[in-house]
Amino acid sequence: MSTTALPPGSTIGILGGGQLGRMMAMAAAEMGYHVHVYCPERDAPASEVARTYTCAAYDDLEALRQFALSVDVITYEFENIPAESVKVLSNHVPVRPNPDILHISQHRVLEKQAINKLGIATAPFKSVTSLIELKAAIGAIGLPAVLKTCRMGYDGKGQAMLDKDSDLVNVWEKLNTIDAVLEGFVNFRMEISVIVARDVAGHIASYCPVQNTHKHHILHETIAPAPISDALSDKAQKIARIVAEGVGLIGLMAIEMFVTKDDDIIVNETAPRPHNSGHWTMDSCVTGQFTQSIRAVAGLPLGSPERLCDARMLNLIGDDVNEWQAYAAMPDARLHLYGKKEARPDRKMGHINFLLPKKQG
Ligand code: AMP
Repeated sequence: MSTTALPPGSTIGILGGGQLGRMMAMAAAEMGYHVHVYCPERDAPASEVARTYTCAAYDDLEALRQFALSVDVITYEFENIPAESVKVLSNHVPVRPNPDILHISQHRVLEKQAINKLGIATAPFKSVTSLIELKAAIGAIGLPAVLKTCRMGYDGKGQAMLDKDSDLVNVWEKLNTIDAVLEGFVNFRMEISVIVARDVAGHIASYCPVQNTHKHHILHETIAPAPISDALSDKAQKIARIVAEGVGLIGLMAIEMFVTKDDDIIVNETAPRPHNSGHWTMDSCVTGQFTQSIRAVAGLPLGSPERLCDARMLNLIGDDVNEWQAYAAMPDARLHLYGKKEARPDRKMGHINFLLPKKQG
């Protein structure tokens, strides 16, 4: 075991108090750690399950400093933490995954450049900072294409599909940014993702690739394992390993990929934290993704990512959660609710893992 492993009773700091923070905190508590969550919102889902909770803004440098002094390591459940704040934190205590990874994953162009540098394909892309550059980028990449804000985009927000009939002036105005990227449209046959973890000693463990389908740009369903060939599955996991090693990951990250019609794999984006498409692992693998992320950031060796059974994960978005009684009555399904009071449309309220007999592989 690594000499840097945090003993039980140590405190893990988590930036962000949403459902990912909540499930990370629960996994940490299971392993005997205390958890201190830092989040700008009151009553966030993680507030109910953490020993300590600081409610302060992500740019409140003094509150961040106090937070850093109270914990042994810091991890995060979302990427959009200002660089200056991360610097303050990392002056006091290790931030894992490391601040460079965070920096890259905050910006779509930096992210794609970093991935290409590792010899891994992304969609063709061009940085766009003005309408003139947008027109030039379309000239280089062609149409259809996808225009995205470089920062803060999620669940399809901050993106626009462009085709030959698009009103570019209007699209550019609506995007309301001077930091965008134009990506070639990938005519994919399937969207998959791989969750990969790397520990302080450099050991890597990845889960099997899963298939993801979206509704209104929000993840709807994950099928584990993805219905792809063994060769493609190996290729996807190899890509994940190369990325994890290439960025010097200590922690866990998700890599979203497109499978093209001719069975190529193209990386779409990465997230250096547990991911919605990894929720199935909580109930179907020897080590779930939340436990794995805590193991890695606490300096413990990784647990086995082996799949004990197949799974289908269904997100409960908005009013879907009203069916909770029906789901709770299903003996082979495991219901996870996030404790959110109000079921607003598009809000992730919970998920359900259907456990299925394991097929070969
Ligand atoms: P993102 O925010 O980059 O994950 O994009 C959200 C969703 O938009 C993806 O899951 C895809 O379904 C779709 N999408 C994003 N980029 C592209 C692309 N370059 N080509 C085709 N579809 C895309």
